[in-house]
Amino acid sequence: MPDIIQLLPDSVANQIAAGEVIQRPASAVKELLENGIDAGADDIKLIIKDAGKTLIQVIDNGCGMTETDSRMSFERHATSKIQTANDLFAIHTLGFRGEALASIAAIAKVELKSRRHEDETATLLLIEGSSVVKQESTAGNVGTSISIKNLFFNIPARRKFLKSNTTELRHVIEEFHRVALVRPEIKFSFFNDNRQLFVLSKGNLKQRIVALFGNSFNNKLIPVEQGTDVVSISGFIGKPEFARKTRGEQYFFVNGRFIKHHYLNHAIDNAFRELIPTDSFPTYFIYFKVDPKEIDINIHPTKTEINFQNNQVIYAMLSSAVKQALGKFNITPSLDFESESSFNISMPPKDKTFSQPEVKINPGYNPFETQKESPGNFQPQQRGSKPPENWQELYTTRELNVSPDMPAKMDIPDTEDTEGKYDEVAFHLQNDLLVTHVKSGLMVIHRQRALERIFYEDCLTSMESGKGLSQQTLFPVTLQLTAVDAEVLKGILDQLKALGFDIEDFGNNSFIVNGNPSELNNSDIKDVLDNIIENVKNNLNDIRIDKTASLARTMAVNMAFRQKTKLKGEEIKSLINRLFATKAPESSPDGKPVVRIISSEELEQKF
Ligand code: ADP
Ligand code: MG
Repeated sequence: MPDIIQLLPDSVANQIAAGEVIQRPASAVKELLENGIDAGADDIKLIIKDAGKTLIQVIDNGCGMTETDSRMSFERHATSKIQTANDLFAIHTLGFRGEALASIAAIAKVELKSRRHEDETATLLLIEGSSVVKQESTAGNVGTSISIKNLFFNIPARRKFLKSNTTELRHVIEEFHRVALVRPEIKFSFFNDNRQLFVLSKGNLKQRIVALFGNSFNNKLIPVEQGTDVVSISGFIGKPEFARKTRGEQYFFVNGRFIKHHYLNHAIDNAFRELIPTDSFPTYFIYFKVDPKEIDINIHPTKTEINFQNNQVIYAMLSSAVKQALGKFNITPSLDFESESSFNISMPPKDKTFSQPEVKINPGYNPFETQKESPGNFQPQQRGSKPPENWQELYTTRELNVSPDMPAKMDIPDTEDTEGKYDEVAFHLQNDLLVTHVKSGLMVIHRQRALERIFYEDCLTSMESGKGLSQQTLFPVTLQLTAVDAEVLKGILDQLKALGFDIEDFGNNSFIVNGNPSELNNSDIKDVLDNIIENVKNNLNDIRIDKTASLARTMAVNMAFRQKTKLKGEEIKSLINRLFATKAPESSPDGKPVVRIISSEELEQKF
């Protein structure tokens, strides 16, 4: 029997390796951008077509290559970045495995043009499926330009696995974020299908973050800074009030490399605990600098998990750095609904989905009291249905002496009763709390959250029917957006219209707002749309999120937040009526309590 083992030809070996290094356009983008950085460029352009499926081109003004190096760069394990295994422990470049270009050349048509500044001519190289098709001297700029055409052209099975352009573009943008966030001193520009998505001028880290994620980040960020022999930590965290429902902008970088690290993520979560709701995620951009010896850098390029030798020390340092940063900005937990334990609140269980409700009111039934014993009893009302006209009867009259300043008699009148009398039993406690009297004691309503609940359901109804209440804006508002934001806005114009916005696309990423939902003021429009765009961007990647509900929620929070005037008794009454006409008056759209009852017993105990 003859020998049967043979060496695979390079082209096949490279194709196999390519399968691991290059999974989708975004992985090629990452490798090329990193090569540009390693080459010392301070201006890097990324041009893609069809989300990178047809073309990925990266042009840098870095050191360039000689003719021989140009040819060598496509060989497997060909790198200028390490020479011995020992070098692995002192790596300061992003690449070093010498695999990327060889892999890319195995699965695409590649054109390279490169020139060093000391050379007069550039080298042009065409490679298709690992074979050099053309090599010649040519005119060209200093630096390197690499074009990758038709990724996976020779592996149809792989090409078939690429997702829609929208999805692939999202991956490319995420990769671009990760690279651009590390090097604010490098100018980056990014074009997709001839449209400019980003032009990031050189600047500091904060300017870079704002350029990538929007102007709203200007007042969201708190600097973090801490250094010891082991590690230096720097960067920014988002103020707690901007925490999100989705893991949005959470970035760790180690020595200029994006990483994921669950353990360290926990350190940040911990520092934010009690400052943000449990189901929210803080924003952070944290940069670690450590001696390369401290980390195992020799991970696969597509992997982002790495470990530190001193995990625990770094955890403790990070945690303290974040707490210190939060403390410096005087952000301490405020006494709020969540932490005030002497109140007695019944909340519908978070994970419970309510079945199609019937409108059935039991006048003697206090949903907040009994629900605690039996959450299943909770019967929300159908959205849009009229408020139960006699909801106050749920909480029948009772005499209470609360405090000398309060009216001694707190009989709740009928709904039809006169304004003045109602004033006595529904009033502002602080600007954001409303108090009224119910059968079992005092009912305290969180005004902002009550409004959020009301507006949320209004918005959902508007979006379902396509008809939101709109008013002409006093002065048309012009929006000049970044390319990305403009795309996002275009994608939700219909929904915004249903909410009452009248927005015209003026081309060149500018828009004119001629009408807006009647609950908003002229001056708020820009801010609100900014917040909405922001929110949509953050949810883009999360398929679990119901985009309509999320838009309604953002809109509701923005509308509610802007209602600050003190309400008169009659207005409080109407607000409470509207609240109790909603599906789930107890909780705000993001699940925070809206209503609390302080029982008469609790109050009496206080005397
Ligand atoms: P690695 O980056 O791991 O060394 P690559 O396959 O990405 O491997 O690149 C191989 C080599 O080609 C690099 O080590 C570098 O010397 C050279 N090279 C690649 N891209 C560029 C570039 N844009 N400018 C200058 N040299 C480059
Ligand atoms: Mg490389």
